Order: sequence, then C-alpha cells, then structure tokens
Amino acid sequence: EIALSVKQLKKHFNVGKNQTLKAVDGINFDVYKGETFGLVGESGCGKSTIGRTIMGLYNCTDGQVVYNNNNIHELDDKESFDFRRNMQMIFQDPYASLNPRSTVKEVISEPMEVHGLYPNKKERLDRVYQLLEEVGLSRDHANRYPHEFSGGQRQRIGIARALALDPSFIIADEPISALDVSVQAQVVNLLKKLQQEKGLTYLFIAHDLSMVKHISDRIGVMYLGNMVELTESNNLYEQPLHPYTKALLSAIPIPDPDMEEGRERMILEGELPSPINPPSGCVFRTRCPFAMKACAEVKPEWQEVETNHFVACHLYNDQIKNKTPIKDEVY
Ligand code: SF4
Ligand code: MG
Repeated sequence: EIALSVKQLKKHFNVGKNQTLKAVDGINFDVYKGETFGLVGESGCGKSTIGRTIMGLYNCTDGQVVYNNNNIHELDDKESFDFRRNMQMIFQDPYASLNPRSTVKEVISEPMEVHGLYPNKKERLDRVYQLLEEVGLSRDHANRYPHEFSGGQRQRIGIARALALDPSFIIADEPISALDVSVQAQVVNLLKKLQQEKGLTYLFIAHDLSMVKHISDRIGVMYLGNMVELTESNNLYEQPLHPYTKALLSAIPIPDPDMEEGRERMILEGELPSPINPPSGCVFRTRCPFAMKACAEVKPEWQEVETNHFVACHLYNDQIKNKTPIKDEVY
C-alpha cells in the first residue's frame, strides 16, 4: 500500500541573472506504508529539498506529491493543518532545531499546543513524560534545557517532539550524520523500535550508504537533482547497476579482507558539478568511467530493468547502447 507518491517532481530555484538552480529535476518514487525508504546522495544532490517539498515547506516547480490520495500542494487550510500533524520531520542538527531557551517539556509540548491536543495541562505533561520514556529519556529531564544534553540525547528530544502529534509519516533528514558512530547505532535502533511500535513510515535521508543499509527497506540513490537508481536495500548492495551507486558502495570500507576479493572497486574522480549548470544528457557523465557519446546528448530514461529495480543509465538501455560503440566513443 502506497503512503506517498512523488511524481515527476521538480524544484527549481531562481538564483538571479536568469539562472536556475535545478535542485530537484524530475523525480519519481513511491513510499509504502510502514517501510523505511532511504534517500541517499552527496550533499547538494537535492535530497533535503525533496524532504522540504514533501513537507509542503516549498511549493513544487512541476510534478506532484501525493499523500493518502491527496496532492499536498492543493490542500485547503484545514486539510493542510491535518496533513502537517500526520507528517513530521527530524533534523540533522537537533540543537539548531530546538529552542535553547525552552525546557525539554516546553519543546515537546509546543506542537501539541499549536494543534490543540491535550488541552488539559496535567494530561499534556503526562504525555510529555510518556514521550520522554518512549525515546529512552526520563521524566527527570523535562525541566532541563537542550544544551544540558549530549548530541544523541538531543536527537532523542527531537524525536520525542516529532512524535508528539502521533504522526504516521516521518521525514528524517540526516538524523545521525552529526552524531558519533557509537551513538548512531543507538538512534537507528530507537527509530526502528518506534517504527515497529507505532507502524510509522520513514523517509530516511543520508549522505552515504553505510548506515542506511541497516534501516532501509528500499533505497533511492540521488545525484545532482536526479534519482539514478532505486531498489530493495539488499539488492542495491548485492546487484548495484548504476555506476554512481557502484562508486558510493566502493567508498564503504569492508572490515573483512575476504570480502574485498572480487569486489568491484570504483573511485569517483572529479568534482560534483553545479546544479545551476548541470551537464547535458546524463548528469553523471562528467565523472562516469563508462560515459559514451549518447550520454552527453540524451537524458537517460528512468526504467524498471527488473522487478522493483529502477535505473537511469544508458548502459541498461539496449536501444541506445547498441547504437553507440562504448570503447570507440568514450568521452
Ligand atoms: Fe555513465 Fe552514461 Fe550511464 Fe550516465 S548514462 S551513468 S554517463 S554510462
Ligand atoms: Mg541536506
């Protein structure tokens, strides 16, 4: 069952002098109810922009975001209020997203007050205590301030706040990137536990593939405003198709030397181009070791090459590939 559909989504920004920043440039994916969908790519690839556009914080330049059969950019005020209760966000830097002058109790109560939930003060406080316990903190923390906590604890406060309205969908924008590795696993485990208890659906945004693997059911890989590959998490690790995905996977260290054998190594050369003037054709071609003539001329189609495995690359399009002798016409 589909919770969220992103259809041909584009988000462009005017950056002056008739220049357009193509932050998101025509993306398609569905998120199923109860799953974790991982959205992965280097910083600047547009993944946070997608998160914000789905939340309705940005309108979209083209395309649609459909949630529970409604186009979220066409909701009336009442519908939009309900939608915001249903969809919550967790941020990378919990400290920046928590008001330093508010106590933990105030931070967690605020969304309930805005939405008129638990108008009775005593009940609201009980709800705060309950949320603190659900995220592995205690009621003794309620009257303290965010700066008194460690990064991992602050992220727990951010999660409690996101849960305050009992949402069904959570967008987690790099929720563990700023944390120590040892703490990352704890926060991931907490998110998994909460997902099971509450039947939550997650869109989990990350800049590399190392942790997403453990939390995601499916993963979409983004590069420069485009999605280049999407499939089930295990399959992405075992059978990556897109050259960029292969490069991202190469960057993950493997502790076991036996597993290194037979592993396809691919190191990415060159810089990430600017989304203001992205390369023609395939946006990855300036860094792709397999680039051919067609890659500069034709934008690769988003195709389902096997069941539930989507990729945008001419190497998997026989019509284009057979026309272009790869070895002779390398760019
Ligand atoms: Fe490389 Fe061409 Fe495939 Fe793009 S379309 S990833 S440039 S082979
Ligand atoms: Mg970001």
